[in-house]
Amino acid sequence: MLGLGAAGIPRIADALETAARQRPSVVWLNFASDTGCTEALIKATYPNAAQLILDILSLDYNETIMAAAGTQVEEILEGALKRGDYILIIEGGIPMKKGYGMIARREMLDIGKEFAAKAKAVIAVGSCATWGGVPAGDPNPASIRGVRDALGVDAINLDLCPVNEGILVATIVDFLVTQRIPEMDNHGRPKIFYGQTIHDQCERRGHFNAGRFVERFGSREEELGYCLYKMGCKGPDTYANCSKMRYNDRVSWCIGAGAPCIGCGEPEWVDKFAGFYERLPGVKVPGLGGVEAGADKIGVVAGVATVAGIAAHAIGTARKGRFKKEPPSEKADKPSDTGKAR
Ligand code: SF4
Ligand code: SF4
Repeated sequence: MLGLGAAGIPRIADALETAARQRPSVVWLNFASDTGCTEALIKATYPNAAQLILDILSLDYNETIMAAAGTQVEEILEGALKRGDYILIIEGGIPMKKGYGMIARREMLDIGKEFAAKAKAVIAVGSCATWGGVPAGDPNPASIRGVRDALGVDAINLDLCPVNEGILVATIVDFLVTQRIPEMDNHGRPKIFYGQTIHDQCERRGHFNAGRFVERFGSREEELGYCLYKMGCKGPDTYANCSKMRYNDRVSWCIGAGAPCIGCGEPEWVDKFAGFYERLPGVKVPGLGGVEAGADKIGVVAGVATVAGIAAHAIGTARKGRFKKEPPSEKADKPSDTGKAR
């Protein structure tokens, strides 16, 4: 997941062994959300996020899953704050209006500021903590914001609704190995997980390029697994690696299960993509610079781009003289592995 390859495994094992001895403290605060990210975490068995956070690290506070309650819990939390140097995970958006989000008579905003100030890293998990998510949807009466905006800290943003537990585990392990914040995009998301669009990694992309779309749920085209663009898929405008990471122990993901992507990994979601089943107005077609194609022309334009690409390749090859110099061989008649991959 971290792109370290087999050579990185001993480094990861070392970092986890050290962590298991030192038990770095994790404080997990819940603000405005439905605790879906905690649910996703504790239900995962592969990779075992709960094992990492509960056994290797020391989860000192998470009000959703801890057995203790009341004064005892408040004392644990105070102790963690006094010691400082914990990894702070925040789930949920933060109400900016006074009185709209309180825990034990304190504003969520004040609690967040206090704990972020003494953390060695702040991780915002899920779309609510990154941009406000569902609770910040119009009209947003509590004026809910994401962690970076509300607290003014450089949180590592792991959006998606809920957070993908694989991404959370890999981010924590990366931090343990490197003791550094990962390289991030301009929205504070680790590039390694949020560097490409859903569309560019989608298993239905071949259908998109060929102009084969589902036009109606329950149709033959849906059965054949055609592209969901016309059913409102926001994959072309959404950056995340859901097709690779997948959900439910990596069994499946939204588009794999037949639902259009609703863009939950993007800033300003949900309002940005409301009308989940409405089509995006256009999609940039790779290979033709900035050309955008509307729903009815995608197949044609993508086809032109493909032909243009093939033609450009053929012209380039001819200029280099490869067509003339290479004598026909037996191998040329057989499909190569490279050809298959394309
Ligand atoms: S529009 Fe959606 S379903 Fe179609 S290829 Fe792109 S991401 Fe996949
Ligand atoms: S595929 Fe789209 S809607 Fe589904 S989790 Fe990923 S970003 Fe969110």
